[in-house]
Formats: sequence, C-alpha cells, structure tokens
Amino acid sequence: MTSLTVLGSSGGTPTRTNPASGYLLETDGMSFWMDAGTGTFMELAKHIDPGTLDGVVISHTHVDHCTDLFGLYGYLGFGPSGTIPVPVLVPPGAADHLSAFARAGEEHVFHTVLDLVEVDAGSTVKIDDVSIRFGEAVHPVPALITRFDTPDGAIVYSGDTGPGSDLLELARGADVLLCEATISGERDERSYPYHLTAFEAGRLAAEAGVRTLVVTHLASGLNPDRALEEAADGFDGDLVLAMPGTRITIGEKL
Ligand SMILES: [Zn+2]
Ligand SMILES: [Zn+2]
Repeated sequence: MTSLTVLGSSGGTPTRTNPASGYLLETDGMSFWMDAGTGTFMELAKHIDPGTLDGVVISHTHVDHCTDLFGLYGYLGFGPSGTIPVPVLVPPGAADHLSAFARAGEEHVFHTVLDLVEVDAGSTVKIDDVSIRFGEAVHPVPALITRFDTPDGAIVYSGDTGPGSDLLELARGADVLLCEATISGERDERSYPYHLTAFEAGRLAAEAGVRTLVVTHLASGLNPDRALEEAADGFDGDLVLAMPGTRITIGEKL
C-alpha cells in the first residue's frame, strides 16, 4: 500500500492551525517528505521518526516549502539522529542557497546528514522500487513538479506553479494529483501568473485523467468550500481538500 498524508497545506504562510506545505509519502516500508514548509517537521514527527526518512523532495526554496528542512538538519546532526545521509532532492541552484543559510562549507555537518542533490526537470531518480520523475513548474524561482511512481500507482505533486507547466504531462494517468489551488475565482489579465486557480486545478486533473484530485495550498483566508466547488466545476472524479491529517491511500481498497 502507498499513502499520502498531509502535514500542512496552507498556501504561502502557516496559520495557527495549519502548517505551510508539507506531505508524507509512504510506500512499501519507505517514507519520503515532500516539501518542508513551516510547521511540518513537528507534524511529520507525529507520524514517523524523522530519522527513518528515505528521502526528501523540496519543490522550491520559497520559505513556505523549505524552512523546516533545518529542523531535520538539527534532528539528524545534533539530536536523536537516524540513518544518514538522507537524500534531499532540490531544484537547480537550491543546494547552494540552502547550504548558505546553514553557513555550511563542504565539510560541515549539514552535508554529513543531508545529501543535497540538484535535479533538473525531465530527470528521474530511482530509490529502490520508487521512481521519482521531475517536471518544470512556472514560478518566479526554479521549481519542480514531482511524480512518484510506486508499485501501487502514481502520485503527482504540483508544488507551486502557474499555468503552462509540465504538470499536465506528468499527471497523465496518475492515481492521485496533489495540486495547488492558490487562487479563487476566474483568471483575468490581473491574475498572478505563478499560481493556479481552483478551477484550473480541476480542469487539469480532468485532462490528465487522474482518479483523485487533492487540492492544496489555498491562500490563507480563502473559503475552502468555494475552492472545492470551483475545482468540481472542472473535474468530476474524487475531490479532496488537503488538511493536516488528510490521508489518501492507493493500491488497496480504502
Ligand atoms: Zn507556496
Ligand atoms: Zn512558491
């Protein structure tokens, strides 16, 4: 069985009750942390020992997606520790960016516990039976779209992206699409080009033929019911709102 557990889903900023972006993917005894938004390290630790992670994927270095990576660094470097180094897959340029924040030169403990690997759109990383494929997002900084192919099926995560990215291509035929829906209402010429509307997320899920759409990264203050209605205007499959604790399983009857 493969499962996706939401650790936090608040778009752009954590709130008092919802961390920023972070997700736990578990498959066949392995666990991966997708995005380390503010507040998600503590949520992660409620589900697994962070020292047992098999990998981390950081979609991009906006703070709502990466700051809690330093929580894992402290845990592995100075705390209870675990199996090290943990592979951390990041977009181009992000390894230097994250290392600089930790003031980590080549021999620094940061690199002893975390193995930062920059991956390009179009590349695939294999970890045991799991294949992780990356696409390019449309965002102001280098940002990745991630597809996990497991023996149970495929889960695709948009990260942050505007329209026109590789998301449709990567999401084709996936069991689960975890897709950002930062904007509510119709897009017009003044709309921010680096995020999707809820309707666009729904329409993309329909075009890609996914079974379950999980909408996430709603800008804080948006009405979740309205966002779900807008997503449903474009998609008539299973529709789920990502909230901390939301868990989707594939490969086994729910
Ligand atoms: Zn974001
Ligand atoms: Zn972003």
